[in-house]
Amino acid sequence: MKILSVNAGSSSLKFQLFEMPEEKVIASGLIERIGLPASIITVTTNGDKRRTVEDIQDHAKAVQKVLSVLLDLSIVASLDEIKGVGHRVVHGGEKFSDSVLITDEVITEIDKLSELAPLHNPANLIGIKAFQKVLPNVKQIAVFDTAFHQTMPIESYLYPAPYSWYVKYGVRRYGFHGMSHKYVSERAYKLLGKGPEGTRLITIHLGNGASVTAIRDGKSVETSMGFTPLVGLMMGTRSGDVDPSILPFVMQKENCSFEDTLNALNYESGLKGISLASSDMRDILKGVNEGNKQCILAFNLYIKRVCDYIGQYYILLGGCDALVFTAGIGENSGQTRKAIIDRLAALEIKLDEEANKVMGKESIVTKPDSKIKVLVIPTNEELVIARDTLRLIS
Ligand code: AMP
Repeated sequence: MKILSVNAGSSSLKFQLFEMPEEKVIASGLIERIGLPASIITVTTNGDKRRTVEDIQDHAKAVQKVLSVLLDLSIVASLDEIKGVGHRVVHGGEKFSDSVLITDEVITEIDKLSELAPLHNPANLIGIKAFQKVLPNVKQIAVFDTAFHQTMPIESYLYPAPYSWYVKYGVRRYGFHGMSHKYVSERAYKLLGKGPEGTRLITIHLGNGASVTAIRDGKSVETSMGFTPLVGLMMGTRSGDVDPSILPFVMQKENCSFEDTLNALNYESGLKGISLASSDMRDILKGVNEGNKQCILAFNLYIKRVCDYIGQYYILLGGCDALVFTAGIGENSGQTRKAIIDRLAALEIKLDEEANKVMGKESIVTKPDSKIKVLVIPTNEELVIARDTLRLIS
């Protein structure tokens, strides 16, 4: 059975077509610059990548384009072969602790939650509505980035701010990257040869965005992102944790608006802000290896903040069976993983430096006698969407 996994952004639409339950990717693609002149359409099937440029005015046209490409390239003989469409939805609030079949009520709820994720939920909804229009008889599923973290206990998600903010407005920690933390934790149990019961994991998603999650018995008990994805770790362009009083102080000093100052924390901070060079870890590492002082400072700050969270979650979990690295940096950069493990000397992790050279492949990179294992597991959010879609349409 063919299932389409969709991630709609404000000007992009990413998809993967799976043969399920075999979990085989038949085709994948991306439409960028939707609504702008010269949209870029990239489709890969059987290792063959095609790129075309044409004007795609809106998401409805983008969806039509995806489906016509699938037909034109004979990836499907008929659209009837597609039995389900799964959509990534960033914010499910407290309402959704699992994926759901999309109904009119679900659409209303996702719409209501747009005030908590104004950049993402509206774009996700546009994608959902566009597919509903073109494939009216196909079941659509919403898979939420926040759902995995709904198991956090109240001490982990409540901010010590006025309680009425939580009651009236839902101000609390929600956490993000839930599909990624869920996927790598499930793979980790397989690699460790242990079930979730009694296993304590710290999953470390280090991509452009970054977050750490403490997982006990298969459940998220705390995660570093909060009410929004701005906080927690230092990221490519996001600051992570900073004192909120910095905002009015800098606004006054630089005579700039609240929005500009918040934008600086979202888009001009993190690796980019400190290195004065780039948000891309490959550039930072090049700078580090060439002795560039600003890159070294950015890297050291980055490592410290990851370790601070790992230390905190180690205590929270009362120990840890494995650290799991994933996403662009976590999967590919042995240098970053080693710097983190070196700084965690108190945990006496025995890194296998040869094994730690691995890039983008599932593996255990600690010596067999290391009490805490370190795993590298490439994430696969699209597959989580496809699996949940299969589960809910069956
Ligand atoms: P993601 O958001 O998961 O695509 O991750 C993007 C981040 O991964 C960027 O900071 C990239 O520089 C980083 N990245 C990708 N490949 C490597 C690599 N080989 N070494 C270091 N960082 C990498």
